Amino acid sequence: MSRITLVTGGMGGLGEAICMKMADMGYEVATTYSPGNSKVTAWLAEMKQKGYTFRAYPCDVASFESAQECIAKVVKDMGPVDVLVNNAGITRDMTFKKMDSTNWDLVMKTNLDSVFNMTKPVCDGMTDRGWGRIINISSVNGQKGAFGQTNYSAAKAGMHGFSKALALEVARKGVTVNTISPGYIGTKMVTAIAPEVLESKILPQIPMGRLGKPEEVAGLVAYLASDEAAFLTGANIAINGGQHMQ
Ligand code: NDP
Repeated sequence: MSRITLVTGGMGGLGEAICMKMADMGYEVATTYSPGNSKVTAWLAEMKQKGYTFRAYPCDVASFESAQECIAKVVKDMGPVDVLVNNAGITRDMTFKKMDSTNWDLVMKTNLDSVFNMTKPVCDGMTDRGWGRIINISSVNGQKGAFGQTNYSAAKAGMHGFSKALALEVARKGVTVNTISPGYIGTKMVTAIAPEVLESKILPQIPMGRLGKPEEVAGLVAYLASDEAAFLTGANIAINGGQHMQ
């Protein structure tokens, strides 16, 4: 029987590539979308045309109740979640001087609280079954900080603190917990940046001189999810074209 993967934010640029790669690797794939996102039916149809059959569930990852309800439905329809990819995320960039508590809270809840909300309902099942993978999609800006991103950098750095602590707690139970920290990847989150800013400010920071591809991050997710990666836990893996080396 194939393993079940749940990817949050699967309709986004990175999430879609992760869903496709996991399906290519033989996993059954479920994803979440924001309640009210009207594009889900069209997206599922588009994926089907490309040969992918995904299930999509409404879920506000910032809400514990919504996450619980979503995962209960996934488990009922498909079975227990073996691989959880906490990928959903948002930015609300502004200098600290301009930042209000609304934009702080929103980013913390969506990027960091979501990791607790989604992991809590699946983690005990993974340890009981003696196999599981939790993969948290953080960011290079959680490793090095970024101007105008006190909220995002704090949330993304927090994800890795979570990964390390939980990795210790579940290490003997066949469950690994890891963080991936992508640099600039060519998704709409990044291509929305003005081309002149991309050319003059962002690309010069990247030794490889290009944006990363969603498929490159998806390949790393697939590796972390595999049996071959069983000894790899509590790591924060950078995938950033050499932009930031720790
Ligand atoms: P996108 O904006 O393309 O996708 C983000 C996804 O998150 C969307 O599918 C969105 O769903 C979902 N989402 C947002 N808020 C919620 C919520 N409250 N509940 C449920 N789902 C939600 O971004 P990317 O694909 O570029 O980014 C994916 C992840 O990778 C993020 O965590 C991001 O921080 C991280 N990252 C991205 C980088 C990049 O260069 N692109 C670099 C480093 C990290 P919906 O559309 O339905 O609202």
